Amino acid sequence: MSKTKFVDFRAVKAAITMEQLLQHYGVLDQFKRTGDSLNGPCPIHKGSNPTQFRVSTTKNLWNCFSDCEHGGNTLDFITKMEKCSIHAAALKAIEWFNLDPEAMAASDDKAEPAEPKASVPAAKPATKTAANEENPGDGGRPQGLPNPPLKFRLDKLERNHPYLVEQRGLTPETIVDFGIGYCAKGMMADRIAIPIHNVKGEVVAYAGRFVGEPPEGTPKYKLPPGFRKSQELFNLDRAIKEPADKPLLIVEGFFDAMKIHDHGYRKVVALMGSTLSSVQEELIRQNTTSDSQVIVMLDENEAGKAGREDIACRLSKFCFVRVHQFPRPDMEPEHLTDEEVADIVEGHQ
Ligand SMILES: [Zn+2]
Repeated sequence: MSKTKFVDFRAVKAAITMEQLLQHYGVLDQFKRTGDSLNGPCPIHKGSNPTQFRVSTTKNLWNCFSDCEHGGNTLDFITKMEKCSIHAAALKAIEWFNLDPEAMAASDDKAEPAEPKASVPAAKPATKTAANEENPGDGGRPQGLPNPPLKFRLDKLERNHPYLVEQRGLTPETIVDFGIGYCAKGMMADRIAIPIHNVKGEVVAYAGRFVGEPPEGTPKYKLPPGFRKSQELFNLDRAIKEPADKPLLIVEGFFDAMKIHDHGYRKVVALMGSTLSSVQEELIRQNTTSDSQVIVMLDENEAGKAGREDIACRLSKFCFVRVHQFPRPDMEPEHLTDEEVADIVEGHQ
């Protein structure tokens, strides 16, 4: 996160272009260029009309002539896309585009620009977006640039830790397949380290799961600073190597995915939350065809129910989507048996 306390909105606005933002959201290729304007479907209300949204590449302004009936500058665009305040939008832009926080600090501020952020949490919106949803292991990180591959590996992880074997009931094969284990030292000390790979199979982060129930104020999951989970789908690199005719199972958490793997079904990915980011949606689109089948199986709680409706609606635009509902509230994929998993993926349940 940025260290800037006071943000000079004009400096941020001047430093980014609408074209960069369309690229950031992965929609630039849907736009057609005519002179200094770009025309395409509106990314804000997710319209389909290819001329409803126009961008001036020289003025860096945009306008939606359809549902939004609205226009604005680059920062306005971020506030609409992220449903956040202008202050939060500026901070996101600084992070996404690696802008120099010092240069973006308001010149008339009364504070040292390097002072740790203090005013940021107030900007957190109440509306749910993929970037802001409170999820296991997420600090509300915005979507942005790709996570770079890690240059190190955590070694000496304890594979047969009782938490994994007894409490989570994972088999030794699954523990080894996912490369997880108890970490005694370092940034993931006293946690179960879970490597997260990008779609190419490169390790981009370790998530650290607290062993057991964490005390008040300690997060269940810890992710390294700067890591953007919205850029990755856990286990996607391996799920895509499974046969194309098998459905892709989408679950929420690391352990859901590992349990499903334990049950013998390997074409499974975890959102690391209950919402689907636009980058995750794009990752699924790139790795499916119009014949592909996707099963959305989130936790049977309020967040899961809300998430699966949205996800099903978005994915059904390019593949077949089935939503799995559990018969009882508070049920999670972790509670399933081998037979139940098999029935679900074969469409008998
Ligand atoms: Zn619109």
